[in-house]
Amino acid sequence: MITPSQGFATDPWRLLKKIRDVMAAEADPQQRLGQVVVTVANHIVAEVCSVYLKRAGEVLELFATHGLAPEAVHATRLRVGEGVVGLTAAQARPFNLRDAQKHPGFAYRPETGEELYRAMVTVPILRQGRVIGVLAVQNRAERSYTDEEVEALQNVAMVLAELVASNKMVAREEWAEVDGIAVLPLRVTGDRLAGGIGHGEAVLHEPHIVVDRMVSDDPEWELRRLQAAMAGLRTHLDRMHERVSDIGSADEAPGDILEAYRLIANDAGWLGRITEAVNTGLTAEAAVQKVHNDTHARMGSVSDPYLRERLKDLEDLANRLLQHLSGKLTSPAFGELPDDVIVVAHDLGPAELLDYDHARLRGLLLEEGSQTSHVAIVARALDIPLIGGIKDVMTKLEDGDWVAVDGDNAQAFVRPSEEVRDAFDRSLRARAEQKQKYAQAKDLPAETKDGVVVSLNVNAGLLLDVPSVADTGADGIGLYRTEIPFMARSQMPDVSEQEALYRRIFEQAKGKPVVFRTLDVGGDKLLPYWGEDQSEENPAMGWRSIRITLDRPHILRQQFRALIRAADGGELNVMFPMIATVAELDQAKHLLTLELDREAGSGHRPGKVNVGAMLEVPSLFWQSAALLKRVDFISVGTNDLLQFLFAADRGNRRIAARYDTLSPNVLNFMRHLVVRCDAANVRLSVCGEMAGRPLEALGLLAVGVNSLSMTPSRVGKIKEMIRSVSIAEVTPYILAQLDCANDSLRQKLRDFARDHSVIL
Ligand code: PEP
Ligand code: MG
Repeated sequence: MITPSQGFATDPWRLLKKIRDVMAAEADPQQRLGQVVVTVANHIVAEVCSVYLKRAGEVLELFATHGLAPEAVHATRLRVGEGVVGLTAAQARPFNLRDAQKHPGFAYRPETGEELYRAMVTVPILRQGRVIGVLAVQNRAERSYTDEEVEALQNVAMVLAELVASNKMVAREEWAEVDGIAVLPLRVTGDRLAGGIGHGEAVLHEPHIVVDRMVSDDPEWELRRLQAAMAGLRTHLDRMHERVSDIGSADEAPGDILEAYRLIANDAGWLGRITEAVNTGLTAEAAVQKVHNDTHARMGSVSDPYLRERLKDLEDLANRLLQHLSGKLTSPAFGELPDDVIVVAHDLGPAELLDYDHARLRGLLLEEGSQTSHVAIVARALDIPLIGGIKDVMTKLEDGDWVAVDGDNAQAFVRPSEEVRDAFDRSLRARAEQKQKYAQAKDLPAETKDGVVVSLNVNAGLLLDVPSVADTGADGIGLYRTEIPFMARSQMPDVSEQEALYRRIFEQAKGKPVVFRTLDVGGDKLLPYWGEDQSEENPAMGWRSIRITLDRPHILRQQFRALIRAADGGELNVMFPMIATVAELDQAKHLLTLELDREAGSGHRPGKVNVGAMLEVPSLFWQSAALLKRVDFISVGTNDLLQFLFAADRGNRRIAARYDTLSPNVLNFMRHLVVRCDAANVRLSVCGEMAGRPLEALGLLAVGVNSLSMTPSRVGKIKEMIRSVSIAEVTPYILAQLDCANDSLRQKLRDFARDHSVIL
């Protein structure tokens, strides 16, 4: 009988060395697993040491044991979440229990003879952030294990993870809940993170380094290797930073994200934890992996989007550091690539994406990813279709599988039939032709058949969008969403950074007008560095947009200052979002005046300042008399306006079909607004999504709107529609229907378009 005082031998280094010897010996993986449990049990003076591995169906199977009944091996199974072992897997964290039988989660398995044991430590066996098994030790007597003992077991678990994975002791697809690797054509769906289509060969992005040397002989030498690898990593990031400005996409977002990487790479805490792990006897590689596993286990379940992004950045960095340590560049991006590449990954850091030759990239499929994830921002900037949130996609296809990605509809076809491939080819050709056709039409006026000239503008949010003004022949930028650069940064840009950005926008717009909308954050647009609690019951109607910037006027004033300076004596158009009352507009204008006066003192004076309000909160309409006296222009944000008019969340798919953008309610509202703006001689435009859809745009023209602002890719299509319609025909037709009881005038407009050969 072992007494508590004997406990573990706590020399972790010796244990690791013994494990290394076991791993080096000639034996099959199952035998080696058996030897590992004996070694651990002997070394740490525990009566029981067991390894459970995760199998298909979220089950943990006993694979090896020293101390429990041998018949239980491959017979005892626990569900993830069941018993202490199951909980360890479910929560991806160690359990250290003085008396496991008193733990509410304890599950008794008679075949194992487990009732004899009280004290228990369990640690998850983690690989690439996933739990693939559990290592458990048990003692008969009640006792507490020390932190060092738990840590020693975590080190052993890491070694085991490699043994299990590199010998494929459990097939990879069993780690995920799937039916196996299909070889038939397959359609997978997920979330649309970047639109467009493309097809090519799947390249599975698994740049995982197999760490085969876990135990160090010479910590000093390991530390020197670590430092050299860190230096290599930093130089690599610097070079990548330069390359991003070359592929330049003139877009600051990838550069900003890499800047955040450099900050982490220089962060003393991260390096400190790795150094500490080296000092416990691990090799530099094993130490990097251990710190990463620990962070993942601690933070893996956080839902905060900012922290999740940081976790991904850390994962990407840890992988890069491992590559520098091993001297092997394991990302497929550095190998020979097919001409058409579809990258398939569990998740991808933005820097990992930028490692690929973007001239070959045709699409991206990810198991993770969200609209605001950094990889999505970069993919959109590079115009690569990206579908995220595809469950277990890594296990559903193989390297070299042909994949057709339809980013617009968030679906991908794996190993598609000839017909699907042909259809994609046709669609790609048609898109290219269409693009060419619109490019040719870019200098034609957006004028209706009866001579009404419509102002067409683009919505922009990244520098990358700005050249599209020239490419599409648009009249200017009708909406520049200033918050997007704020969202892609790791901290709030200061006045000089903002000024530099706005200057580049002015330069690239080449004299065409740009409407700068002041910061419109909150709701679904969260700033990662925003200190305030951003959780709200009803964020769309909460503390967002102008409400935030009026409460934090210095933000608005800094933005004005940067805009005034960047305008450099030229014309400045400023627009305020989410104005609900004229009083709010007055407050915002007052701040602008203060800043104009202040800047005039130091010689910064724009040629002319035009002030506009977005009409997206219905209440403002009912103050239109006072409103129209105070503004130079109004821009209708139909995305928000409609959600408030119909009390229907703009992001909720369940109710998306309930109300139509082309309902008489909307068109009536717009008609009244047009009449009021015309009478007050105030410019009116529409910058919500509906302005970029041909049928909706036709409805807007019909009620008298003659200025539209949209996603750049829509300009050509909308111009084509405008040039094929006569306002004198469509306006009376629609005005006559505005008082009808129909839910929608969509069909009426379709009929009109068909009968009058309007190109939609
Ligand atoms: C709108 O609400 O219609 C709009 C253009 O603004 P955003 O989509 O940025 O809220
Ligand atoms: Mg809006």
